Amino acid sequence: MLALLAEGPGVAALEEVPAPRPGPGEVVVRVDVALTCGTDLKLLRRGHPKFPFPLVLGHEWAGRVESAGDGVDLPAGLRVTAAVTGPCGECAACRAGRQHLCESAFDHPSWGAFAGRMRIPARVVRSGLLPVPDGLALEAAALIDPVASVVHALDRSPLEGRPDVLVHGSGPIALTFAALLPLWGAGRVVVAGRRTARLERIRRTGATVVNVVASSLPAALAEATAGRGAGLVVDTSGEASLVPGLVDLVASGGTLLLFAGMPRETRIDLSAYRLHYEEVTVTGSFHYRPADVRKSLSLLSEGALPVEDLVTRRRPLSEWAEAFADLSRGDGMKTALLP
Ligand SMILES: [Zn+2]
Ligand SMILES: [Zn+2]
Repeated sequence: MLALLAEGPGVAALEEVPAPRPGPGEVVVRVDVALTCGTDLKLLRRGHPKFPFPLVLGHEWAGRVESAGDGVDLPAGLRVTAAVTGPCGECAACRAGRQHLCESAFDHPSWGAFAGRMRIPARVVRSGLLPVPDGLALEAAALIDPVASVVHALDRSPLEGRPDVLVHGSGPIALTFAALLPLWGAGRVVVAGRRTARLERIRRTGATVVNVVASSLPAALAEATAGRGAGLVVDTSGEASLVPGLVDLVASGGTLLLFAGMPRETRIDLSAYRLHYEEVTVTGSFHYRPADVRKSLSLLSEGALPVEDLVTRRRPLSEWAEAFADLSRGDGMKTALLP
């Protein structure tokens, strides 16, 4: 079968590789659709601490069970999608209910969706392989991974008292936050980014959008929130140099949540005054728990996400390089790659 194999930073090609076979507890799926994601782009450019080269790219997908290993009772043809990881259930983090921080969650990930078929590890089969409900398109079900990450971030966000929220960035994650924040009790949602066409899609969620190229973000935020400011600021851009400016935009007593990952060596300059005298909290959120994954599939089934604005183009897998270029330019949101 053909698979998009990444051999090192910047080196990837569609190559013929042996089709996977399921071991005990494992499942092999036929991939119907796999979505582009900024994580694959970053991984290809600079590597990823959790996913060493060489590897097949792609991790947001939906498809059908092709074959199941010993101990797995799933019929061939069943429509499924899956989380990227399955927690061990035994480490200190898992026992404390923080399965997203499981020590070994990323040892056996479900990764490699830019291919005709994909092997799902036993741990993911146990806690993260989910049947796609009737009526939910596979293209929508493939969004389960990014939506689960946002669900987890929202559950970590202090939203009591309906604070106004600023989301920084204009990609699919910012759009997902804009769509879900009202369901979690946020007040006014303001999304700030640089890409006009993407911001127009985000505006359809009811959020106020601010193009930071054309206007002053502090002034626009003050106007949109009637001077209250943002009790929660979420960064989806991962641009470390912009974080000090985002800290300045958090209302007194509020929180900055770093959603996007940054390279391991990144350090951030923070205002000690704001942290102490104004009790501004800076925190992060990473990955998700099995419960977030199930919640994500429910939200997708209920139509809570604007799928047509999240998946904006379809291409055959052979056009992966064009799809990555679109993503890099911020042209559209996600592309569905069809093997
Ligand atoms: Zn992703
Ligand atoms: Zn664990």
